[in-house]
Amino acid sequence: MTTPSIDAELIRRMPKVELHIHLEGCFTPARIAELAERADEPPPRPLGELWAVDNLADFLLSLDWVCSLVRDAETAETIALDFARYAHDQGIAYAEVIVNPTHWTGLSTDTLFAALASGFDRAARGGLGDFRLLPSILRQQSADDAVALVRWMGAAGIDRIVGLSIDGNEAAAGRTGTRFAGAYALARSLGLGATAHAGESSGAEGVRDAIELLGVSRIDHGIRCVEDPAVLDLVIERGITLNLCLTSNCTLVYGHLDAHPVVELARAGVSFTINTDDPETLGVTLCSELELAGAHLGWTTADLVAAQRRAVRAAFCDPTTRLKLTGALDRFAQGG
Ligand SMILES: [Zn+2]
Repeated sequence: MTTPSIDAELIRRMPKVELHIHLEGCFTPARIAELAERADEPPPRPLGELWAVDNLADFLLSLDWVCSLVRDAETAETIALDFARYAHDQGIAYAEVIVNPTHWTGLSTDTLFAALASGFDRAARGGLGDFRLLPSILRQQSADDAVALVRWMGAAGIDRIVGLSIDGNEAAAGRTGTRFAGAYALARSLGLGATAHAGESSGAEGVRDAIELLGVSRIDHGIRCVEDPAVLDLVIERGITLNLCLTSNCTLVYGHLDAHPVVELARAGVSFTINTDDPETLGVTLCSELELAGAHLGWTTADLVAAQRRAVRAAFCDPTTRLKLTGALDRFAQGG
């Protein structure tokens, strides 16, 4: 047995990968205040209490309002750069950022993603990190809306778009696997990665549907697969990676980390990664979530590096990027 030996500075220095983070949850308070003043738009609740909500409807009201303040390409590019600076500060070398265009009502899908990709290009040139985009379907959308988004992804020619995501409240939308199977099949046929939120507001059946109907290789959350041993087995057999967000899950699902199934998932041999979901709205960072996971699971430095290797394996990047990330982790693990 080795003794847990992870300190905060070591976590910060480690080259990290994050696969489950929503750009909508990354607006800094200062940026929100600036955009609100410029738009002369009253917030749905006082600015300091935007995220102090106790239900999803109020949360979405705040989120939609914040995103609606972005009304031109230059501002969207600034939001991308804000994210890049945060990520760089955290020591994140590579991230796949979920963006749901239905929240960004002030911009067309074209303008939004072109501007975000341009911001990420600038960030990469400036040495801030390598950040990619996962356009996301909203669960409440129609099959036609979803197919239209994927067709747009295929035609847009934006290299930073690497996969398709779906998010939104599954409990409210019901089982939608069949509705979105066509969009996911199209995305996979275009060579895009496939991930889906499931097993958070839905139970184990949501995880099964994401695997069997959407053909995903990753699931965002997926934690409630533990409620059905057959679905847990399916996750393991298919080598599906679960992108966990401990604080987010404790806020919305479990109430306390002791009730979170991460220990059970680890014991069962599930491939999982640690992520933030919405760092600004939850008041967390990737480093703080890794500290939390490390302390809760009794991780050694080797365990921490192993979790990062799982994230690198599950990333939707090209082989050259994967080799680069693996090399950076190797150097870190060797004390370089
Ligand atoms: Zn999420």
